[in-house]
Amino acid sequence: MRTRFLVGNWKMNKTASEAALFVQQLSQLAPTISGIEVGLTPPFTALHAVHRALPAASPFLVGAQDLYWEDKGAFTGEVSGPMLKDLGCKFVLIGHSERRHLFGEQDEATNKKVTAALRHDLQPILCIGERLDEREGGLTDSVIERQLKGGLAGLSVEAIQKVTIAYEPVWAIGTGRAATAEQAAQVHRHIRRLLDTVGGVGCGAHIRILYGGSVTPQNLSSFLASEEIDGGLVGGACLDPASFATLIDLTAAAQSQKTG
Ligand code: PEP
Repeated sequence: MRTRFLVGNWKMNKTASEAALFVQQLSQLAPTISGIEVGLTPPFTALHAVHRALPAASPFLVGAQDLYWEDKGAFTGEVSGPMLKDLGCKFVLIGHSERRHLFGEQDEATNKKVTAALRHDLQPILCIGERLDEREGGLTDSVIERQLKGGLAGLSVEAIQKVTIAYEPVWAIGTGRAATAEQAAQVHRHIRRLLDTVGGVGCGAHIRILYGGSVTPQNLSSFLASEEIDGGLVGGACLDPASFATLIDLTAAAQSQKTG
């Protein structure tokens, strides 16, 4: 059974000291977490502070928002897998729509990043999603197919099974206009079928697929009610500790309903 996964994407928010305070507050609001996984992705500059501020037996996983595919060398401004591992990271976001659309990241780069993350035992969360004009032009399925197959190209079946996918329609990110649960579930079903073709039959049923795009405490449960949706990748609503703690409670409640 797939364990639900809630991930907060902090984007370019919070200094190291603000991040440490956030983690202390969140740890008080959500001291234990049962049955689900919860990830925090501070900016690179706050990773150390977050790792240090978490209690020793913390239930939170720390991850990064991006990585570079080379391990070290003359790549000014970049951060590598070994550097993230050393800071306690367990996972990394790859191909977030802001990387793709603001910084021109292409599928070839996401593929190299997924490969590098796996090489360093960092769980990749490969983000994919269509723009509004692509959805309106009936291109959602083909965009998803290109981004998914491009990001996973050349990986073994065993490697593909270690990846988490986040479906994030670009038009829903940071806009307050979330997809409906049915729109998201429809694309998740398409992704599972594609995963069966690249990773073998059963791969689609095995891999976690998160929904992201204007998730809030008001709408998260409607997504989690779908069998297809294994959790959320949350931007704006993860920045306040009380709001994120509510999202954690809702995810845990959905998981316990599922397991009975
Ligand atoms: C995101 O950054 O991945 C995201 C989904 O943002 P928001 O929740 O603010 O739409």
